[in-house]
Amino acid sequence: MKITFLGTSHGVPAANRYCSATMIEIGDNIYFIDAGAPITDLVLRMGKKIENIRAVFTTHSHGDHVIGLFSLCDLVTWHYKKAFISVYLTEQKLLDLLFETSGYLSNNNPARRINFEKITESTVYEDKSIKVSYISTMHKNRGIEPSYAILFETEGKKLLFTGDLSGNLKLNDFPSYGLENHTDLTVCEMAHFSMDHIHPYLEKLKTDILCFTHVYPLDKYELIEAKKDTFGYKMLSPSDGDTIEL
Ligand SMILES: [Zn+2]
Ligand SMILES: [Zn+2]
Repeated sequence: MKITFLGTSHGVPAANRYCSATMIEIGDNIYFIDAGAPITDLVLRMGKKIENIRAVFTTHSHGDHVIGLFSLCDLVTWHYKKAFISVYLTEQKLLDLLFETSGYLSNNNPARRINFEKITESTVYEDKSIKVSYISTMHKNRGIEPSYAILFETEGKKLLFTGDLSGNLKLNDFPSYGLENHTDLTVCEMAHFSMDHIHPYLEKLKTDILCFTHVYPLDKYELIEAKKDTFGYKMLSPSDGDTIEL
């Protein structure tokens, strides 16, 4: 399994960082956690096939996690005739908007090649390679809509993506799954709280590798570097294009 960080910025892109998007490859199959980067273009630039994208799992409906879906859904609707992609979204409104704009732009029915799914806490995606389940968090998206962490299981390995979490972690919503169970990789946001806020959770985290993405403000990169030998696991802050093989 190969994990490629295609977008490591927080809500706003930087000169050398797109917003949130992580690509996971298992054999020829491509999966995405969040699509805040131009994932269609990036997949093509890497010489990979759009037809190999199996599913995109979003954590919530903020633009920095979903905006890249508009071109992917449009192009799959009319151009990539051999593609069939599942797209998991947290809000019906966004699902309807993507469906309608893809069809509007192309004159075709998006449902022919895109399986749009609305996420609930009991949603589970499974195919021959992977199992994905959702853990709700308290990150506020216009006050009411849900946000999720994602547990991605494959080849006997477990990857936990926190998605965005609550401001200052006041709502204690660091996903308890990661504190109670071993994971091979945890990808954690770092924009809505300080290193002090998250420190108690990092002490309990049972992971082999922790990657901080979605980092803001940028001086937190120095704090992450300073703490990298504090816990019993590898702590990284990847840049766009960095990869991890598990
Ligand atoms: Zn975000
Ligand atoms: Zn957000």
